[in-house]
Amino acid sequence: MKTFCGRANPTTGALEWLEEDENYDYHQEIARSRYADMLHDKDRNTKYYQGIRAAVSRVKERGEKAIVLDIGTGTGLLSMMAASAGADFCYAIEVFKPMANAAVKIVEKNGFRDKIKVINKHSTEVTVGPDGDMQCRANILVTELFDTELIGEGALPTYEHAHKYLVQEGCEAVPHRATVYVQLVESKRMWSWNKLFPVHVEAEDGEKIIVSPSEMENCPGVPSVCDIQLNQMPSSDFTILSNVVKMFSVDFSKPVRSAPTSYRVQLEPVKSGKAQMVLSWWDIDMDPSGMINCTMAPYWVKSTSAFQWRDHWMQCVYFLPNEEPVLQGENVYLTACRDEYSVWYKLQKARGEEENKVDVRVESPVCRCQAHLLWNRPRFGELNDQNRTRQYVKSLMQVLKTDSVCLCISDGSLLPVLAHYLGAKQVQYFFLFFKANHLDDKIKIIEARPELLTSSHLEDKKISVLVGEPFFTTSLLPWHNLYFWYARTAVTSHLTSDVTVLPQSASLHMMIVEFQDLWRIRSPCGTCEGFDVQTMDDMINNSLDFRESKEAEPHPLWEYPCKSLSDPQKVLTFDFRKTVPQHCLSAEGSVTILRKGKRHGAVLWMEYHLAADISVNTGLMQISNEKGNCEWNPHCKQAVYFFSSVTESETLSDLPNDVTYAINFDTKTGEIAMDFKL
Ligand code: SAH
Repeated sequence: MKTFCGRANPTTGALEWLEEDENYDYHQEIARSRYADMLHDKDRNTKYYQGIRAAVSRVKERGEKAIVLDIGTGTGLLSMMAASAGADFCYAIEVFKPMANAAVKIVEKNGFRDKIKVINKHSTEVTVGPDGDMQCRANILVTELFDTELIGEGALPTYEHAHKYLVQEGCEAVPHRATVYVQLVESKRMWSWNKLFPVHVEAEDGEKIIVSPSEMENCPGVPSVCDIQLNQMPSSDFTILSNVVKMFSVDFSKPVRSAPTSYRVQLEPVKSGKAQMVLSWWDIDMDPSGMINCTMAPYWVKSTSAFQWRDHWMQCVYFLPNEEPVLQGENVYLTACRDEYSVWYKLQKARGEEENKVDVRVESPVCRCQAHLLWNRPRFGELNDQNRTRQYVKSLMQVLKTDSVCLCISDGSLLPVLAHYLGAKQVQYFFLFFKANHLDDKIKIIEARPELLTSSHLEDKKISVLVGEPFFTTSLLPWHNLYFWYARTAVTSHLTSDVTVLPQSASLHMMIVEFQDLWRIRSPCGTCEGFDVQTMDDMINNSLDFRESKEAEPHPLWEYPCKSLSDPQKVLTFDFRKTVPQHCLSAEGSVTILRKGKRHGAVLWMEYHLAADISVNTGLMQISNEKGNCEWNPHCKQAVYFFSSVTESETLSDLPNDVTYAINFDTKTGEIAMDFKL
């Protein structure tokens, strides 16, 4: 079957109809899935195996047959562990069809065809009885349905249903329980992802301060969790205000209730400060005694010897609705509220009047100011980056004149405000922001796509300064912001002949890297805990080749340490002073490998050249030492192109020291294709 999906091309802005193969989504999901990362998670796998063996033994000791229910079997891994541990029979449930098919193959290949029945259904559709999917209820419940927030993938309703309909009372559960931990912190860096700080502009007639509207100041923000690799957050970037406390636990061996509820703990601040966010993570005990424990605790909490890198489970940052000053030694009460799929937090100074009646219905935060809907967290961080703002201010000062008519093309940008303060006569743009800064009569918002811009929108004036950061919310990969170039091309007839375009150009840069850990998410596993899972590797490879073959993927590299193996290299330039050319832009060449290491892939990013000598860089900030450790722009995602085979050199001389590349920017489709030879 073929379907056509309409979408706006993120780079060219053109509305296009894509012919989607019905398997397209499947392949996307598999190619970009976390299965490989999970199979590489040795700590998780060994602990599941230990927990499963212990559970099977306990059931056998009671003289019962061990009947296992494995919900969300994926590759079939946990069922194969159970079967190897002596389980009599396993029902392996998997809702995602391609995975269920893979599980059938993997189970068969490993010789468990008689012991494991793969059922391609959502667990809530599974039937029990002589004619059902399961002959009888299970007495061992094994699952791995957790996300970074623990419950975000629907573990609670799934368990609730399983206890009601699919497992026996008193069943063994692996994991046996999960516990959520919290710690109160203050962090200017993380708070800058949630609130807009005053922006200082050094104008010729003195300093101007752009303030956020009070709606924005008091807005509780959006409820979604911010899940990040907290282990990459240096301890100098936050202040711990409380000890780590247990917030709540879920016992998976007993009936589970998914209905919304709340939990409250008392915290004694260990330091005075501004409580701004709750850092949170969880651990799971694979057995009732808690001897087999798998934890997501960050580096400052747990000993580094137990450290396991993983991307499928990270840590959570929950922003409090407002920052609250707390005093060392003066108790505060932290309430965690949850519904079926998410958690949010509230901090209270005093114990409520009715001590035991915790307000169950503390509402999930809802953004009232719109800004949290327009700007995601990295974007808040970017707009709060004073260094970056300074570059724009400097360059705007160079190009703006008192009679400039300025058009800004960027999403949710503060450039119009800067341009106004720096003296532009008229600025065309949008936003609630202007009200707070009394600019609504100075800045005009145009609600039209660039190609539909008319002279009446511009009150018959020509644009003398065209600006953009550029930034667009539809951009996923760095070069998608080249939409600015297409928009610039579309409005050409409205520009003066000597128009200034800022940025004047952009360039695409590239570097070959060795990742400390990120390689795991795309690397084949072969065997996992002794089970042959190559079918999974083949499936991922097949999906990578399906259509998106040879595509780069976006990753925020500040969270994923890597080492540069080559110098960064400029590969393409895009001249915004001219319109988008008809022909493709391409580059071929070679990069010299300067350091030994595993050549995992290439990283690509954009630099914007605002004006003479002033640039903003969305990628590599610096190579911090002779080992080649990289520092990346913390607000942007970079593009990562994983090489299909990884080559490693022990010394610099035992491999060719050049990687050759061919990169092509198709100006018609806005797509960048690349090819590397190692
Ligand atoms: N058990 C495997 C895979 C875990 S990933 C392992 O540990 O390696 C979780 C899997 O559960 C996904 O494949 C997802 O599709 C599936 N899943 C989640 N909820 C489910 C449900 N209620 N019923 C069936 N499958 C489910």
